[in-house]
Amino acid sequence: MTCSSASEGSARPKFPLVVVLLGPPGCGKGTQAQLLKDHYKIAHISTGDLLREHIRKGSPLGKRAQEYMDLGKLVPDSLVFEILFERIGQEDCSSGYILDGFPRTVTQAETLKQRLPKEIIPLIINLKLDDSEIIERLTQRVTCGKCGAPYHLIFAPPQKPGICDRCGGMLIHRSDDTEAVISQRLKVYHEQTEPVVAFYKGLKLLHEVACNLPKEKVFLAIRGLVET
Ligand code: AMP
Repeated sequence: MTCSSASEGSARPKFPLVVVLLGPPGCGKGTQAQLLKDHYKIAHISTGDLLREHIRKGSPLGKRAQEYMDLGKLVPDSLVFEILFERIGQEDCSSGYILDGFPRTVTQAETLKQRLPKEIIPLIINLKLDDSEIIERLTQRVTCGKCGAPYHLIFAPPQKPGICDRCGGMLIHRSDDTEAVISQRLKVYHEQTEPVVAFYKGLKLLHEVACNLPKEKVFLAIRGLVET
């Protein structure tokens, strides 16, 4: 990987820039990842989007993953590693990337630590939000079926109903954004993903940002972390 710097005039984070966004489903990881991607020109890698892409294509991996996703359970690590590390190896990740939805287990966090080149210290950001607010956000969420951009039907609706502002794709209500599946996803989050927060705290790499604020304010807080 090569080293470069951000555009003239702006503060200069170290590249390659690897940002890991942790936080419960619906806390705004996808929205913040999109803002980071546009601002720092680095790749956005959402393991959920990669898995949904396999499901859309009907690949054997997608078929296996769907059984878990429909139930709100985590997809086995071996499948997630296969798609994630193939993606990280692609050219557009050479100046950095944002991980959105990975790692979700301590095993995934340990594997990422082993696989990252020693000179790359990832910026780990935990986006914090209460369970009650998560359920409200997810039941009102629609997502672009083409580029994955998320919208909130009341607080951040698209300009044209049903159409993505970014790419013109059709907006869909994700099949796992129903109350029953959301409760299961939250249970999985508390049991399997919260220990990842403790793992990074133990390594003294954890930063926390409250995300019950407008997305622009959350992004400013994240930029503050990237540029210090
Ligand atoms: P997301 O789009 O991040 O909300 O993820 C949707 C679903 O994809 C999750 O509920 C899991 O079933 C699966 N998934 C996404 N990322 C991972 C991961 N890192 N490990 C295991 N399962 C994942």
